[in-house]
Amino acid sequence: MGRRKKMVERVKALMSNPDMIRNIGIVAHIDHGKTTLSDNLLAGAGMISQDLAGRQLFMDSDEEEQERGITIDSANVSMVHEYDNNEYLINLIDTPGHVDFGGDVTRAMRAVDGAVVVIDAVEGTMPQTETVLRQALKEHVRPVLFINKVDRLINELQEGGQEMQMRLGKLIDLVNKLIKGMNEERYKAGWKVDAAGGTVAFGSALYNWAISVPMMQKTGVSFNDVYEYCRNEDMKTLAEKCPLHEAVNDMVIRHLPSPIEAQEGRVGAIWHGDKTSEIGKSMKDADANGDIAFMVTDIAMDPHAGEVATGRLFSGSLTRGMEVNVSGTTVKNRIQQVGVFMGPERLEVEKIPAGNIAAVTGLKDAIVGSTVTTLEDMMPFESIQHASEPVVTVA
Ligand code: GDP
Repeated sequence: MGRRKKMVERVKALMSNPDMIRNIGIVAHIDHGKTTLSDNLLAGAGMISQDLAGRQLFMDSDEEEQERGITIDSANVSMVHEYDNNEYLINLIDTPGHVDFGGDVTRAMRAVDGAVVVIDAVEGTMPQTETVLRQALKEHVRPVLFINKVDRLINELQEGGQEMQMRLGKLIDLVNKLIKGMNEERYKAGWKVDAAGGTVAFGSALYNWAISVPMMQKTGVSFNDVYEYCRNEDMKTLAEKCPLHEAVNDMVIRHLPSPIEAQEGRVGAIWHGDKTSEIGKSMKDADANGDIAFMVTDIAMDPHAGEVATGRLFSGSLTRGMEVNVSGTTVKNRIQQVGVFMGPERLEVEKIPAGNIAAVTGLKDAIVGSTVTTLEDMMPFESIQHASEPVVTVA
């Protein structure tokens, strides 16, 4: 079986098992390294070539893919990562850090259950760090922290080992202060980030290494070793011993919730309908046999397939040919294709169960923010609002 076929089989098997799925976003202040991190995660997981990471060009050894010239232009990618001898599917929703920043982050946060908050170790928390964190908490999206550009502390600022540790400790405290100030209840419920607990990783997305307390235990590489590798300009060895994707993806899998774990809390925050109704229960349980509850978070133009609506499926299973209602309209739409992401590519499948990020065609009346359902009368999801806009109180 070719490499691509094997990957197709793996992705198909994993998407049918929501316990093995993590839907995440990477959020950061502009220039803190979100793009470099995302590309290197994908390359590390073998979804794009190592050499091309950072150049946003997807290439595979598979000839057909080379011919089709598939490039990363989609807002959604996925990767398969092995943790504790099990494979997981990590769906990564992109949150572009450009002018239109607020709205994009807001949409992405609706689709995911967890967020990797990236901070530049030198610059520290910045206004957009606060905005994205606030948005994540508002959408009941759990954060973990990645402190990036640690190489700069050593090689540019010439900090000593202790000085560096103190700075990193202060950064973690700052982030926790933000979390506590924004949502004390969740902070107390364990959403605080904590290096010893494994919810913080440090590293260099540019030089492809990262470390966390669990990673130190796994590899035997200590903080002092990290310091020495950087000082001696041997980050290549460090990247071999402590690959970025392993530290970050291990953290994601271990500490960010699966859709099954996350949906109960998330549905409470983004849907104001009757939680004891059939659809309320089905969404809380991510029930693949329930009615469809799909929230559209992105619409993109595909040269072959036309308009592709991507979003989060909270309940039911999407299949080809299914008739659905789109909130705010009275006509029915018929779903044509259903797909999930494999690397940056959209992979057509027969059926997608609840808990996944799904990409569908045929929803000609949907807009970003639409609720799509098989029910005749469903309370739509809370409209997507940017955190700086007035916040609607959750019932
Ligand atoms: P984004 O705006 O958050 O997507 O940031 P980018 O990923 O585009 O990175 C912004 C700049 O920081 C680029 O010039 C990167 O090469 C650089 N950069 C990213 N990660 C690191 C790192 O770990 N160390 C250093 N020294 N530079 C980095």
